[in-house]
Amino acid sequence: MHSIFDSPIFQIANAQYDRTCDWLNVSQSDRERTRHPKRALVVQIPVKMDDGAVRPFEGYRVQHHLALGPTKGGIRFHPQVTLGETAALAMWMSWKCALAGLPYGGAKGGVACEPLTMSQGEIERLTRRFTTELVPFIGPQIDIPAPDVGTGEQHMAWIMDTYSIAVGRGSPGVVTGKPVILGGTVGRREATGRGVAFLVNRAMDLLKIPAEGATAVLQGFGNVGSHAALTLAASGVKILAVADHTGAVHCPSGLDVRALATHVASAGGVVGFPGGDAMEPAAIFEVSCDVLIPAALEGQITGENAPKLRCKILAEAANGPTTASGDEVLRSSDIFVIPDILCNVGGVTVSYFEWVQNEQNFSWTEIEVNDRLYRVLEKSFKDVLTFSKRHGLWMRDAALAIGVSKVMEAKRLRGLYP
Ligand code: NAD
Repeated sequence: MHSIFDSPIFQIANAQYDRTCDWLNVSQSDRERTRHPKRALVVQIPVKMDDGAVRPFEGYRVQHHLALGPTKGGIRFHPQVTLGETAALAMWMSWKCALAGLPYGGAKGGVACEPLTMSQGEIERLTRRFTTELVPFIGPQIDIPAPDVGTGEQHMAWIMDTYSIAVGRGSPGVVTGKPVILGGTVGRREATGRGVAFLVNRAMDLLKIPAEGATAVLQGFGNVGSHAALTLAASGVKILAVADHTGAVHCPSGLDVRALATHVASAGGVVGFPGGDAMEPAAIFEVSCDVLIPAALEGQITGENAPKLRCKILAEAANGPTTASGDEVLRSSDIFVIPDILCNVGGVTVSYFEWVQNEQNFSWTEIEVNDRLYRVLEKSFKDVLTFSKRHGLWMRDAALAIGVSKVMEAKRLRGLYP
């Protein structure tokens, strides 16, 4: 592949895309037109560090397609962020939004940085300067960022403030995942993990696994992983083991997830949690359980470790957690896969609700938010399952076929300008 977006993650997204286009019989010209992002911006972000030195960071924002509305997607702060990874994540956002019927194209952004070693002041200056560089590229009707790995409500508040100052008016609709007091919505913080738990419950119903006494294992205990674990634990699921960037803990009788969340909030990670025993983080994938939930980064389930999985359901809470060779193994296994573009769609769904509320200057109750979220999740799950059964397709192939075909149809109907 000769492309500035080429990277291992972009290759995973492209392998999935090509397979889907083959199945859908998409012409070569339409396929190439939609493969590469419509727009991509690379910016240098000079930041004054606490020691007085000015350090340049590289930031990206990629908008994959513009056929269905403004673009939407998170902003990631992580040392491994690249343009290619950002492009792959933007592409997945496109298929995800189309699958759920949300009026957005996919986008993603990120800055290659090490937030864990930076001070709060440095992170604020980085976020504000990155936003300033993005001002001509984002906006409530253009492209709407949200949190992703390494960013959260505080970052969204800074983005909203910086953008509002630049355009000369309060503009809460420029980002979602904001604090509620600044126009965020109740239920957004929990939405992605809550959605994962809802879909895991649907899959358990299907496989006739009672939630009470079922077991789950998670990699990643940030926003998505922690809320998925808390919601599952509330429905009786035992969380046997959790891994993150600091290590892994396990407890055969089930971890106290609430106590683990408190520990992570103060210690910065799961390591040292007194309510469980330490274990080798890579061994997390081999723990026998009903549900395995990768909720951290891409490319974690590979051709090497996929044959060792001992779960009945793989719930892909992270984006792109499975490599192409991992997929080949899973395809021929009995594991029921809830593919990423379905599994974590709860996040962008409630982001959409937040944006709608901002546009209307009106706020919904948490019951209204969750009720509407569950309706979108239920429909998306049923759509994928029905499509999968009707066409004899694997769950990932079915989800992608729905998402990609909707984008292709929108582009076909809009035509080619001029
Ligand atoms: P986060 O920053 O809140 O948490 C990330 C978690 O991953 C942390 O527990 C961290 O310790 C862990 N982690 C990082 N590197 C690791 C490593 N090398 N090994 C093991 N664990 C590691 O991020 P998040 O918002 O929870 O996002 C997690 C995943 O969910 C990402 O793939 C993201 O794209 C996806 N996602 C997030 C949202 C959202 O609303 N935040 C929505 C949809 C999808």
